[in-house]
Amino acid sequence: MRYSFPPPPVVSVPVVGSDARFPVHRIYCVGRNYAEHAKEMGHSGSEPPVFFLKPADAALAVEAGATGELPYPALTRELHHEVELVVALGQGGRDIATGEALGLVFGYAVGLDMTRRDLQGQMKERRGPWDIGKAFDHAAPIGPITPVAELHDLASADISLTVNGALRQHSPLSQMIWSVSEVIAHLSAAWTLAPGDLIYTGTPAGVAAVQHGNLLEGRITGLETLRVLVA
Ligand code: MN
Repeated sequence: MRYSFPPPPVVSVPVVGSDARFPVHRIYCVGRNYAEHAKEMGHSGSEPPVFFLKPADAALAVEAGATGELPYPALTRELHHEVELVVALGQGGRDIATGEALGLVFGYAVGLDMTRRDLQGQMKERRGPWDIGKAFDHAAPIGPITPVAELHDLASADISLTVNGALRQHSPLSQMIWSVSEVIAHLSAAWTLAPGDLIYTGTPAGVAAVQHGNLLEGRITGLETLRVLVA
């Protein structure tokens, strides 16, 4: 096989306890999956969540113990943080039943669904696609993936985000409207899921703007902390 030019490198994420990296296929995202965040965005909290995608090379993989650097993106004056549980799939499929869904999961990580909120808002007003607000370069920071075999239990875990040490977002994961199983089941009705897919499962309330020089620290009980500096 010859290519017209060298193909892009595989985007990959470190895996806790392994020197083998997780190769990224697609990045799916769930919007409005916590009622309080849906309300702060002007919705009732009882609508079904929405799905959107980011390109695989929007993943900004941060090594264990390191601080990733997120360049402040172009065109926006309102770059928002959204801390989220990321589900990493080790198997794929279509029309997955809720009861089978967790069998596809390779592991979990802390992620940030970075959002150019002003541009997303303009597109909402124009009933246009969200891509310019959501799918920009480096828009999907992610920390190391903890394989399910090394994880005790996420059922009682909390998710939180601090900016320069100040708490901005905090919630039990149990407040998700759609569980991980339900998200996988619904996504697999609309797309063929594949090994390497990442699913950002939605953010709790408290989203807000970040500035140059801010240090973002995303945490989920039992997972590696994600540290990102807005550079
Ligand atoms: Mn989000």
